Amino acid sequence: MGMTGLLQKSLCAIALSLVVVSAGNAGTLVEPTLHLTPQGGGGRVALTLDACGGKTDTRILSALVENKIPATIFVTGIWLKRNAAAVGIMRAHPDLFELENHGGRHIPAVDTPRKIYGISSAGSPDAVQAEVESGAAALASAGGPPPKWFRGATAEYSPSAIAMIRKLGFKVAGFSVNGDGGSLLGATETARRIAAAKDGDVIIAHINQPTHAAGEGVVQGLLALKQKGLTFVRLDDADDVGNDGTTD
Ligand SMILES: [Zn+2]
Repeated sequence: MGMTGLLQKSLCAIALSLVVVSAGNAGTLVEPTLHLTPQGGGGRVALTLDACGGKTDTRILSALVENKIPATIFVTGIWLKRNAAAVGIMRAHPDLFELENHGGRHIPAVDTPRKIYGISSAGSPDAVQAEVESGAAALASAGGPPPKWFRGATAEYSPSAIAMIRKLGFKVAGFSVNGDGGSLLGATETARRIAAAKDGDVIIAHINQPTHAAGEGVVQGLLALKQKGLTFVRLDDADDVGNDGTTD
């Protein structure tokens, strides 16, 4: 349990830090971006929140419910098992929450054996498939509609893994605004990044780290966006355009 907890913590902590991959390397990984088709007007953004493992940041969950801010939540099988109360709140507000697939065990969707931030990838096409399908199965047994989107742990992929995930029937969810730096940023910087989102942006942050300062910043940033008159949509409510073959 100690090792598993540690691994999940590490994976979440490193997820979404800035990635520089070496060009020309056959094993190059991609970190795809995702945007909404801009609509003009007051502006429209999508909030996506990862629930990698661990617990629920009720500061964020309560703020979303109280302010009627819709969000797309990427949940793992691990998180679903341990957070029944939060899942119940999300299911009770289907107008606000869309639950999507963050994998069964929070293992990077990279189909060759390698380390990503020191963490072992799935390592084979079969293992990527198992991660994707076990995440979808966990969501199915938790009730509600079947997931349409997948986002892998660390948000890095091998291009061949993206192609496989698409064949399994899922779109792959990149992002355009890294809101909380893997939940490791302070409240002020997190709020600043989220509040700076523009029409068409897809924001990513985490909802599974209730003890981190970043969660407070997520709430502040979202309220600032709402104050400015931006509209929030879920990924399924908009036309989404990703690169690296993630949505087309
Ligand atoms: Zn994650």
